[in-house]
Amino acid sequence: MAPGMTSIAQYAREKLAQLQALDLRRTLQVSERAEPPWVIRDGRRLLSFSCNDYLGLSQHPRVRAAAIAAIERYGVGAGASRLVTGNHPLYGELESRLARLKGTEAACVFGSGYLANTGIIPALVGADDLIVVDEYAHSCLNAGARLARARTITYRHNDVAHARAILAEHRRTHRHALVATDGVFSMDGDLAPLGELAEIARRHDAWLLADDAHGLGVLGNGRGSAFAAAAPADIPLHMGTLSKALGSYGAYLCADQAVIDLMKNRARTLIYSTALPPAMLAAAIAAIDLIAQDPAYAALPLSRARAFTALADLPPAASCVVPVVVGTAADALSAARLLEDEGFLVVPIRPPTVPANTARLRLAFSALHPEGEIARLAEIIKQRVTRR
Ligand SMILES: *Cc1c(COP(=O)(O)O)cnc(C)c1O
Repeated sequence: MAPGMTSIAQYAREKLAQLQALDLRRTLQVSERAEPPWVIRDGRRLLSFSCNDYLGLSQHPRVRAAAIAAIERYGVGAGASRLVTGNHPLYGELESRLARLKGTEAACVFGSGYLANTGIIPALVGADDLIVVDEYAHSCLNAGARLARARTITYRHNDVAHARAILAEHRRTHRHALVATDGVFSMDGDLAPLGELAEIARRHDAWLLADDAHGLGVLGNGRGSAFAAAAPADIPLHMGTLSKALGSYGAYLCADQAVIDLMKNRARTLIYSTALPPAMLAAAIAAIDLIAQDPAYAALPLSRARAFTALADLPPAASCVVPVVVGTAADALSAARLLEDEGFLVVPIRPPTVPANTARLRLAFSALHPEGEIARLAEIIKQRVTRR
């Protein structure tokens, strides 16, 4: 190498050392999932509060059987993108179930939530357009906004008046406008005011995109956060994932038929990426059926979360996700270690996933968490984490 040049490995080592010094270096840990919500790490069985498998459906006998049957019949990989030869018959069945669940004309399944948002947004808006996005929106909504090259303005978290002011000032000078938010915020667990956002979006001729990754299957009788309030929010673009409460993999957009047809023509992450393995589609269909058959079971994770927040003297849970903000990254790491010593797996969440000095424990509640263990966790958090 010529003098003065930096090798890639040298560059990487320096970057990693900087992260290490800030307690922000991340490493992958092998986690074997036992029967939910237990996981095995380093040979130890830990009760996990860090899985988004809210209903334990990733391990449910009927969901597993559906996936196995699909593999037996169709094999493993899809072999090509949906527009080539990957458009398996199970897609149509899954998409009609999703559209029915959300009350839309049609639905389109994508390879993952990240692929969905990075495909949907650039397919709808471009350089002459405006995107108004919540400051805490998921990383992939922001990635989609960047790929769209639209003017993107962030509004303060859940601040409808701020979003309205941005639309009032900037809507007129742009061709189209998109308002984008999570339905349930993935790191805070609070809900977006979807009804009000839908109202201001409509008034300013903007389209509302709600990402319901953490609402589908567990809020609004399993239909998601748009159906959690007394009157369902009128949302033209319902996005969500198959990988959390449904226990499978993939994501969807539910919308008008024309919008869905446009996705198949314009969403690059759908057109140029291999279709999902048929087993994932079969598993998602089985999961949707289970949720529809037993809405009381679908409501359990939220009631577990509420039991926890009451016992831990925290504000009442709005979803299955409960944040316990502890401060610095080092604080979050040491709180997580303390809980691990007690047999709980709670992965600490650090910047840049959350703002500086709001590093936290993020607890995800499942229908299957034993109530006694929830009480023990609440007591430990109350006595030894939030009280320090
Ligand atoms: C998990 C998540 C995604 C990404 O979905 P994947 O299928 O895991 O890629 C998107 N949006 C939100 C709000 C999420 O929580």
